[in-house]
Amino acid sequence: MKELLSSAGRLVRQFPRTHLLLSMVLLGGVILIALSPDSPPEQPRQQAKTISLPAKPARKPEPQPQAPQAPEWQILTVQAGDSLSSLLQPLGVGAGQVFALINSDDKLQRLTKIRPGETLQVTVDNDNRLTQVQYHPSKVETLTARLRGGGWETRLSQREYQKQTRFAEADITDSLFLAGAAAGISDKLTMQLANLFAWDVDFVLDIRRGDRFRIIYEELYLDGEKVGEGDILMAEFWNQDRHLTAFRYETRSGDVEYLDIKGDSMRKEFIRTPVAFSRISSRFNLSRKHPVLNRIRAHKGIDYAAPSGTPIKAAGDGKVIFAGVKGGYGNVIILKHGQIYTTLYAHMRGFARGIRVGKRVKQSQTIGYVGASGLATGPHLHYEFRINGSHRNPLTVPLPKARGINDNERSEFLIAANRLKAQMTLFAEASTLASSDVL
Ligand SMILES: [Zn+2]
Repeated sequence: MKELLSSAGRLVRQFPRTHLLLSMVLLGGVILIALSPDSPPEQPRQQAKTISLPAKPARKPEPQPQAPQAPEWQILTVQAGDSLSSLLQPLGVGAGQVFALINSDDKLQRLTKIRPGETLQVTVDNDNRLTQVQYHPSKVETLTARLRGGGWETRLSQREYQKQTRFAEADITDSLFLAGAAAGISDKLTMQLANLFAWDVDFVLDIRRGDRFRIIYEELYLDGEKVGEGDILMAEFWNQDRHLTAFRYETRSGDVEYLDIKGDSMRKEFIRTPVAFSRISSRFNLSRKHPVLNRIRAHKGIDYAAPSGTPIKAAGDGKVIFAGVKGGYGNVIILKHGQIYTTLYAHMRGFARGIRVGKRVKQSQTIGYVGASGLATGPHLHYEFRINGSHRNPLTVPLPKARGINDNERSEFLIAANRLKAQMTLFAEASTLASSDVL
């Protein structure tokens, strides 16, 4: 992942120079097609609200079209510097009520994060008691609270985006990001694509002229207006002689996974490089001359030079079996992953908060920070990978795949994957037709 991020950085930096030219070159080869262009269904709109003006309004309440029956809603617009208390004070609502409200439910903590320009709808009874609150923490969320028998009844509802499936394809002539931009997809989506294949493709070193990709993905709409891109549903990548395919699948337990056609995970059990924005300063070498000791001593790991304090990530899910000082290694963490794998991280400046022996860590979780503790000429991570106790070259050791689909869910996955495949084929055919029309 870190390799990828730094690669992405490099790619993005190349972007401005060649963007225009490349867009022009690729223009003919890139097609973007919308599937099922039916207009998205009507969304449930908010109920119209009545408004009653406070005697001496401190804010400008916004007029509402209709005035049906009680309760009378008041619309408050948040100004710079407002808190919930200052917003409600002109309506006679005391700080005690506000305090009771926001502390009655975790969801209502959102009310402490109101931002200028947002609006809040409230009802206040004749005794200056706040009785209802409605707030939209985001475009799709509605938070409502109602005073009922002295307590607050809270609800957070979420509108569904309308989704449309889209198709994009591109030949890669320079970088993945240029190709993505030429195909009309956002950097965010290109990054998603890169992440999908990051375990198999180094997007700086492995890309060759003639490589190409195609994807189907979701576009998100609210009230008929495009608000962003959702997930890639299926991606194909032709890299040199390889053809890689990934399918998005939501498991029965609700986890989203990207799987290949066999149902194996696209991810590996280990990330290759546990520190981002680094360069290799010393390779795995069993007859290296040690830079400090100045004599031949095997270098049984990889050194990644990086600024002091750069986060070091756990290469895989595992358990901390050592966290402390170990001679020339300085501050060291050793992780055990399953039965046969261990990884070691040396010369750390310090450990991440909560890291201690026995602690479980997740892949890519920060476990510590690059430093120069122990025998080191400068800040770097010394990283070792062992199988059954014997050192292996972290750069070349074959990495096991992360667990894929559960056996009892395999047939469901295959049905979903084949449906996506058929959709991709349809899109690709339409795209070919469209481009031959142009020619
Ligand atoms: Zn080293």
